[in-house]
Amino acid sequence: MKNKEWKERDSQFILPTYGGKEIAFEKGKGVYLWDVEGNRYLDFLSGIGVNILGYSHPRLLKALKEQADKLLHTSNLYLIPHQIELAQKISHHTFPGKTFFCNSGAEAVEASLKFARKWGKERFEVISMKNSFHGRTYGALTLTGQKKFHRGFQPLLPGIKYVPLNDYSSLEREINENTCAIIIEPIQGEGGIHPCESDFLKRVREITQKRNILLILDEVQCGMGRTGYLFAYQEYGIEPDILVMAKGLGGGLPIGAIHVREEISSTLQPGDHASTFGGNPLSTRVACEVMDIITQEGFLERVRIKAKKLWDGLKNLKGEFSGIIKEIRGRGLMIGMEIREDARRIWKEAEKRGLLIGISGDRVLRFLPPLIIGESEIEEGIGILREIFKEG
Ligand code: PLP
Repeated sequence: MKNKEWKERDSQFILPTYGGKEIAFEKGKGVYLWDVEGNRYLDFLSGIGVNILGYSHPRLLKALKEQADKLLHTSNLYLIPHQIELAQKISHHTFPGKTFFCNSGAEAVEASLKFARKWGKERFEVISMKNSFHGRTYGALTLTGQKKFHRGFQPLLPGIKYVPLNDYSSLEREINENTCAIIIEPIQGEGGIHPCESDFLKRVREITQKRNILLILDEVQCGMGRTGYLFAYQEYGIEPDILVMAKGLGGGLPIGAIHVREEISSTLQPGDHASTFGGNPLSTRVACEVMDIITQEGFLERVRIKAKKLWDGLKNLKGEFSGIIKEIRGRGLMIGMEIREDARRIWKEAEKRGLLIGISGDRVLRFLPPLIIGESEIEEGIGILREIFKEG
């Protein structure tokens, strides 16, 4: 069946919560995807930051097949060795603590919110950033500091406040005796790729420590090697109390997690929180493999080298097309290009020419290529963008 026919069936049977879908993919290898009509696409989006090791990675396929053969769902009433191994790896590569597993980013954010409220006892307020994005379930949606996502879904959760990112004075003003936590994306993703300033994050860490407030870092999009560091916070030289992760952790399988500092880890007790599929053997087996690959010596260093190549290419484009390109921002392989025209047009134009990119809002093109992307593939993507801008 052709793309067009799938599109028709999609509109007949799928709730229309997503727009702009035109292509049905059939297979992928490395950083390329092929649609049902045999057209090839270079992937600069990784399924919105999920397929960090590209498609059909041999080690992931092997782990997945071995585990799939067992179809071993047992529930969290029993010990799950791969889940335990994965939590140990996360602890080893971040900070000593304990992990709760779930199935998505929003669920992980929910877990962090419940954790913070239980930990805070009578303190219940959480400060989030304007323009942030934390997911679509009610708690995560409330934490999301963008009104456009709230419209039609009020009333939201009480006790959530918003302050502008990188505005320390505003943040300080909102802290009071009810504040139990502050949640921040070190690099805002859906909000248009806005990194935290280093000084801001450091000062937030200082005041949260001083006032005994939890610092939750949502690294669902910017974590798992995306910035050239395993987690973005590691480049900032601070540590959160709760680290939220998902997307790239499963390399294509659904998984989310919160990792909490050892000293506070007894806050949640049996019965406080749960997930039927959270930490299941299949996704944790594959996630262990993902973790092992991206923490291998040299892997993240290579990501940083490739990121520089992509940045250089994009900066050159900015030089060539300064009338169209306004700004390039981000960290590592998480890059936003703000343009002076409709981002959707460029997005669709790139798609037609075999390059998959993302958009954030009306004016930002978003690049989240697989971390395994090669230098020639970066050049290929830049070349396609150049053609589009040249034609205007
Ligand atoms: N947090 C951040 C920073 C995200 O970028 C996203 C999704 O884009 C989420 C949370 C929600 O994740 P999910 O879509 O897996 O629920």
